[in-house]
Parts: sequence; structure tokens; C-alpha cells
Amino acid sequence: MPSINRQWLFASRPEGAVTAKNFERREGPIPEPGANEMLVRTRMISIAPANRAWMQGVTYRDKLEPGVVMPGSGVAEVVRSNVAGFNQGDIVEGTVGWQDYSIQTAASVRKRDQATPHEALIGVLGGTGLTAYFGTLDVARPLPGETFVVSAAAGAVGSIAAQIGKIAGCRVVGVAGGAEKCAWLVRELGLDAAVDYRSPTMLDDMRKACPDGIDSYFDNTGGAILDAALALMNEHGRVASCGYISQYNDEKPGPGPAGLLQMLVSKRIRMEGFLLMDYFPQREKAEKALKAWHASGLLKAPVHIVEGLDNTPQALADMFAGANLGKFVVRVS
Ligand code: NAP
Repeated sequence: MPSINRQWLFASRPEGAVTAKNFERREGPIPEPGANEMLVRTRMISIAPANRAWMQGVTYRDKLEPGVVMPGSGVAEVVRSNVAGFNQGDIVEGTVGWQDYSIQTAASVRKRDQATPHEALIGVLGGTGLTAYFGTLDVARPLPGETFVVSAAAGAVGSIAAQIGKIAGCRVVGVAGGAEKCAWLVRELGLDAAVDYRSPTMLDDMRKACPDGIDSYFDNTGGAILDAALALMNEHGRVASCGYISQYNDEKPGPGPAGLLQMLVSKRIRMEGFLLMDYFPQREKAEKALKAWHASGLLKAPVHIVEGLDNTPQALADMFAGANLGKFVVRVS
């Protein structure tokens, strides 16, 4: 077992795009667990767009201040435990941070299955899968035969949401950056069509991909993709606002979609934001469904794995450049 704790601190607020230079590496002693605490060793870290949003301002958590260990969720192994019910070797999930070791309590982690690959615990059977499940089935509510559009569809949440739309019997159209990702969405995930948001003809391309209009839209991006989806929305359409990655690098929020209220009212559209944490009390039913779909092959779980804690800051920057297909994780140990 290593004798030092490598940590990545959030060092400076990015101006524009986040880069590896916004973090500082530090080495320190491995902490000792106190009463009712346990020492856990990070095995895998989830790279998430929210990491960047936390640096920018208040979200569902306080704005991050430089100097703290970069928070991030992940999977860890219990090394030493003073907590009843948690033993050495147990696998837990929680906010482990960008570091080798952390101190956790019974309330700060959740015990997970030891035999399941860590990328699945974080991805399809973890927060990613749950966000896609509830955002699709509880908020976007696509019905069989309807057209369901998903942005950032080649990413973690989007790729699962789009496949849940197929399972629900919809025509599913994914939006992603570049021709290669779009081809992958149709070929590998079985979507009906895909639209490259970087193309200057994006709105026309979306119109062609959705000849009957859009009934529900799972929005991971906001920005120009949301504008286009709203313009093509049918009456009584639903928009599930999951995230707005197109604005996470911006110092100030951009303007809202032009004519939004007129669209919402005249087409009776429901646009609803949601956060996964509100669904935690219901997560068992979702985990059961995701596990069954995944085991049967109905639900693919693409992952993009980067090796080594030292590469974590660059991984976050790479995510914003679209390096990942599916869930982006860093394997630490
Ligand atoms: P992800 O989709 O795996 O990765 C982000 C992707 O966003 C990149 O791969 C990139 O793909 C795309 N992207 C980057 N910049 C963009 C831009 N300016 N415009 C359009 N697309 C851009 O990440 P994720 O973890 O699944 O998260 C997806 C969204 O869900 C995020 O907005 C996140 O904040 C949100 N989220 C919300 C909740 C919740 O509880 N509400 C929970 C988890 C995640 P391309 O190559 O296609 O550009």
C-alpha cells in the first residue's frame, strides 16, 4: 500500500475552458480514521461536467473556493474501518475527491456490490444510469411512437437516456459533436438518426431527422441545441432540463432562448429541470430496471477509461472537448 496520499487541489478559477493548469498536485500523509470513521482508497473517479459548474458559481452546492481538494464522486475500497457494518475490502460509492485516500462515514458512502466492474457502478448502474432513467421516464416521459431527442447523446447520461427512449418504443434522435459520433449513435446504439450540432445546418438537419416534430427532448446542453429543439417542438411537448454544458465555461449565464415564453404558452410545452438527488428515495426500482436491461443486452454501457490519478485534471478538460463516448472515468488503483 502506498505511504502517501496524492491529491489534486482546485487551484484557480478557470477563465473560459477548464484546463489542467487550474489544479495543483499535492502529496501528504494518509489520514487516520477516528471513531465512527473509515479510511477508503479511491479505485475510480467519475469525471462529470458538474465538476466544472461547481467552480463557476453556486449550483446545488456551494461555489468551490481555490485550495480545497477537488471534490468528485467515485468508487473506493475500505482499507480500515471503525464503522459498524463496513469492513476492510468493502466497495463503497461516495464523494471520494480527486485523491488516493479519504475519510468517510456510514452516512457519506453507500456500500456497493464487490463483483460489479467499477465503471458500471459509476456509470450505467450508478448516478449516470439513474439520471438518464428518471430524466427520461419521469420528466421527459416519451410515449411509444413519439419522437424523442437527446443532446450530448454520445456521452454518459445521454447515451443511456437515448437507449431508454428506444426501449420505450420511440423514434430516437441523438445530437452529438461530429460525424463520427453521430454515425456511432446510429450504428452502435441503434438510434433512428443523429444530428451533428457543430454543422452550420444543424436546425435543418434536426428538422429532417424529426419529420413529425419533437414530442420530448432530454436537454444536456442548453444553448443552440435547445433553441433548435424548442423550435421543432410539438404541442404538449416535454423538455427535461438535465444540464447545460454549453454554458459551464461561461462567466455569466447566456441569454435564454428567444421567444421561449411564446413557445411554451402557445404550444403548451412543459419544461422541467430535475436533479438526481431528489430521486434517491426511488432509486431501487430504477437500479433493478437498469440492471435487467443491461444484463439482457438491451442497454449498452459505453465507457471511456483514463488510467491514473495524475491524469484526472486533463480528463476533465478533455471531456469538454468531447473526448468521451459514454461514461468518462479515471481508474486510480
Ligand atoms: P457527458 O455527456 O458524458 O460528457 C459531456 C459531453 O458534452 C462531451 O462528451 C461533449 O460531447 C458534450 N459537450 C461539451 N461541450 C459541449 C457544448 N458546448 N455543446 C454541446 N455539447 C457539448 O457528461 P454527462 O456526465 O453525461 O453529463 C451530461 C449532462 O448531464 C451535463 O449537462 C451534466 O451536467 C448533466 N447531469 C445532470 C444531472 C442531474 O441530476 N440533473 C446528473 C448528472 C449529469 P460532444 O462531442 O457531443 O460535444
